[in-house]
Amino acid sequence: MVLAELGGRISRAIQHMSNATIIDEKVLNECLNEITRALLSSDVQFQLVRDMQKNIKAIVNLEDLAAGHNKRRIIQQAIFNELCKMLDPGKPAFTPKKGKPSIIMFVGLQGSGKTTTCTKYAYYHQKKGWKPALVCADTFRAGAFDQLKQNATKAKIPFYGSYTESDPVKIAVEGVETFKKENCDLIIVDTSGRHKQEAALFEEMRQVSEATKPDLVIFVMDSSIGQAAFDQAQAFKQSVPVGAVIVTKMDGHAKGGGALSAVAATKSPVIFIGTGEHMDEFEVFDVKPFVSRLLGMGDWTGFMDKIHEVVPVDQQPELLQKLSEGNFTLRIMYEQFQNILKMGPIGQVFSMLPGFSAELMPKGREKESQAKIKRYMTMMDSMTNEELDSTNPKLMNESRIMRIARGSGRQVREVMEMLEEYKRLAKIWSKMKGLKIPTRGDMNMR
Ligand code: GDP
Repeated sequence: MVLAELGGRISRAIQHMSNATIIDEKVLNECLNEITRALLSSDVQFQLVRDMQKNIKAIVNLEDLAAGHNKRRIIQQAIFNELCKMLDPGKPAFTPKKGKPSIIMFVGLQGSGKTTTCTKYAYYHQKKGWKPALVCADTFRAGAFDQLKQNATKAKIPFYGSYTESDPVKIAVEGVETFKKENCDLIIVDTSGRHKQEAALFEEMRQVSEATKPDLVIFVMDSSIGQAAFDQAQAFKQSVPVGAVIVTKMDGHAKGGGALSAVAATKSPVIFIGTGEHMDEFEVFDVKPFVSRLLGMGDWTGFMDKIHEVVPVDQQPELLQKLSEGNFTLRIMYEQFQNILKMGPIGQVFSMLPGFSAELMPKGREKESQAKIKRYMTMMDSMTNEELDSTNPKLMNESRIMRIARGSGRQVREVMEMLEEYKRLAKIWSKMKGLKIPTRGDMNMR
């Protein structure tokens, strides 16, 4: 993934620097230049990168580096802090209050994912007990109302719009009034998407904003727009009082750096990210994990801390090696199950991994999970070494499955369930392949 590539480049630059016998200004500059190039190619705006480079140079004390302190940590920490600072505009976005009507206006370029995001935002809050409603003030794009209507109906969210009225201001005001009367507490106004150059459409957006007086204007930005992010975000901010940013399509090949530029241009925080086309592919944005990921440290910090804490020291290097190879065999699963059972509070280590926590070991059902793991292990006891060490998913054919079931006194169905579990975990595990796994010295970045 592109974000991981950026992290890899930055890590290599730091590694390269820390390998140098003497760290002088020249070596530090080389390292920072490489990091600058990496960030630029990840679509972070030039000015921002330059400022960051200046700040890091001001923070990093060459004498400390020379004195043999952990150089990687010092530099990484400085970069981490700078990136977090870039993503934090210093003031939080307006937070709507449940039970009190708030008007949220969405703006953004056509195709940015604005209409989809309006529904996602409504759906997210609806699940948390809000009463959201959607108003389609996009009279510019044919089919906009139908799209919103379709999404809203699917999510069972009330909506307002018109096929005949061409004045978006009128529709927006009527929609807001209607839903205020219906005691909706989150009235979401979708506006027409536009391009920066379209002055008339920008004027329309301004009028909708003036007429509806939104509590919050959210700028929706496609993460793949690249270096154009800063200018576009700024153009919107100049027309309407943007107070928050949502970055969409983070599931694609986006470089993610545009998010930093949008924050800088609008002086508003990113509040959510879109990670897919579906309604629930929507995540609250959290600065620190995002930056960790950007630096290739992934959401590993907590996970790695746990490994160091609970996996026996002599087993750590091997486990880390296996993690970075990304090949998840049944034997690895068996060994991790053993660790989990030995370690007492179940799920300590692997609860840090998405797949292990939610499905295999749901909270509050530890006893059942433990029994399930033991059952799985009994079945694996009936496996051959070849089966345990294989990375070929096709190896487990029908006759092998039947033999394992017979040998362990379990049903074929149960063996298949265990193998499904294995496949699910293997898929998650494979995502870690090639990732640089930080060692203990690189931790403490949060
Ligand atoms: P609008 O013109 O800004 O209202 O954009 P739409 O809401 O119509 O979205 C444009 C396209 O982007 C649609 O095909 C959406 O399904 C897609 N889309 C929106 N958000 C995301 C996202 O987070 N990830 C992915 N992969 N696609 C998205």
